[in-house]
Amino acid sequence: TAQTQLPRPEEIQELVRTGLSACGVDFDSLLSAESSGTLPVRSPITGQTLGHLPGDTPDSVSRKIAAAQAAFEQWREVPAPVRGRVVQRWGRLLTEHKEELAGLVTVEAGKTPSEAAGEVQEMIDICELALGQSRQLYGKTLPSERPGHRLMETWHPLGVVGVISAFNFPVAVYSWNTALALVCGDTVVWKPSELSTLSAIGASALLRRAAEEQGAPADLATVLVGDRGIGELLVDDPRIALLSATGSVRMGREVGPRVAQRFGRSLLELGGNNAAIVAPSADLDLALRGVVFAAAGTAGQRCTTLRRLIVHSDIAEELTERIVAAYRTLSIGSPTAEGVLVGPLINEAGFRKMQESLEAAVAQGGEVLCGGGRVLAEAAPEAYYVEPAVVRMPGQTPIVEEETFAPILYVMEYTDFDAGVELNNAVPQGLSSAVFTSDLAEAERFIATSDTGIANVNIGTSGAEIGGAFGGNKETGGGRESGTDSWQAYMRQATNTINYSGELPLAQGVEFI
Ligand code: NAD
Repeated sequence: TAQTQLPRPEEIQELVRTGLSACGVDFDSLLSAESSGTLPVRSPITGQTLGHLPGDTPDSVSRKIAAAQAAFEQWREVPAPVRGRVVQRWGRLLTEHKEELAGLVTVEAGKTPSEAAGEVQEMIDICELALGQSRQLYGKTLPSERPGHRLMETWHPLGVVGVISAFNFPVAVYSWNTALALVCGDTVVWKPSELSTLSAIGASALLRRAAEEQGAPADLATVLVGDRGIGELLVDDPRIALLSATGSVRMGREVGPRVAQRFGRSLLELGGNNAAIVAPSADLDLALRGVVFAAAGTAGQRCTTLRRLIVHSDIAEELTERIVAAYRTLSIGSPTAEGVLVGPLINEAGFRKMQESLEAAVAQGGEVLCGGGRVLAEAAPEAYYVEPAVVRMPGQTPIVEEETFAPILYVMEYTDFDAGVELNNAVPQGLSSAVFTSDLAEAERFIATSDTGIANVNIGTSGAEIGGAFGGNKETGGGRESGTDSWQAYMRQATNTINYSGELPLAQGVEFI
């Protein structure tokens, strides 16, 4: 159901003003109609352009990287638990200004207030994790084969980390990287998506305030304003020791080899094409909720969005009917309106891609069971609201193997469980997957054989917690961020052999002078 209440342009402006000012950024000087900027700032809620930001240039990028490098020379000398205090303070400032920063995310990414606040909560959570991690950057000690010797592995700050991020998680992805990179002793230069620069400026301003309050170098965190051309400068700059890039597979395919060319390190978090298997023993009420949130939430614009449903043929009809019925109750419209669950697509290109994919699906034998059409076109001609679509497919045709960044759920049937898992695995991407089942053996079999970086049981594909490592395999890029051992990506490892024997025995019994 379309919810026709759209905010007036002044209401959007007010959200931006409040959000930026809570982060200590003056809206008027940053963004005025008269400003000479070239980078448009747009809200997908109304499609309105809020103004233009002055972008970075190759010269200013180079200066900012130099400043980040100078800050690194100081920052690396600060003990890790003391570094943790900056991140702790950032987490507190984020807690204090959660709602206002979430307002910026709503304006730029079109997320509902609940999802936008959830994104900021993730930032707060990773700050807590990183603070604890700052006392646990541990290495191993190992027995040496030589008497009177000790072997150990130690971890050291790496350098300047470049972060490139996507529009759909405008602030959380930055914090996953930055909170850990900072406690690891690195400094960070961030090129946010050109579609969500204001959220980035706000989030980064809070971090710079935290740094200043703790007496840390302000240039430990810098934002670059610009589009992919500015991102490419980070990709090619040898001063960037690690480039962490989140976005489409297309972007990763360009960025990965270029960073490798200069022997830089990269961490890639790319597109997903996530599936859920629903077995006959599944609790269907639970599966229904899990599926609908994962497939239609965030208007299908999460990397972990559920795009493929693989249902046992015995329950396919019942479950599909229930999903279609649930979709019809979803309230679509401006995320600023009460009760809306599905906000806008990011832009016209996203809408066109969705329409092309639906046409291709039908040409490949698909049947659209519900949704797919545009709504609110008259009220907001420059915004792109759509009804989430459910499409029954005869099999995993070429369009199903692609990630379309919009709410399209392809439904396929299986009869043999292993064949269902094979379908799950038979796409180029490998981010997230799920099984709904009450059969323990099936659940374990799924965990052992699903080839994605995230594999869930009785829970949807999206909405990960920061405690576990986040990332995917195959074309998703192989990178891991957030919890467990991901901090190691932001450090340089050394193996040290210490000789306290007073002799000089050589390894492997080699004889020399
Ligand atoms: P995108 O690839 O268009 O852009 C992502 C970022 O990369 C932007 O900041 C952009 O300016 C920059 N960029 C693009 N090409 C570049 C190049 N050649 N060199 C340097 N920088 C370049 O992606 P998007 O539309 O913003 O986001 C949606 C995509 O991101 C989806 O595919 C989604 O699955 C993926 N994503 C993945 C994750 C994950 O953790 N795996 C998280 C969020 C989004």
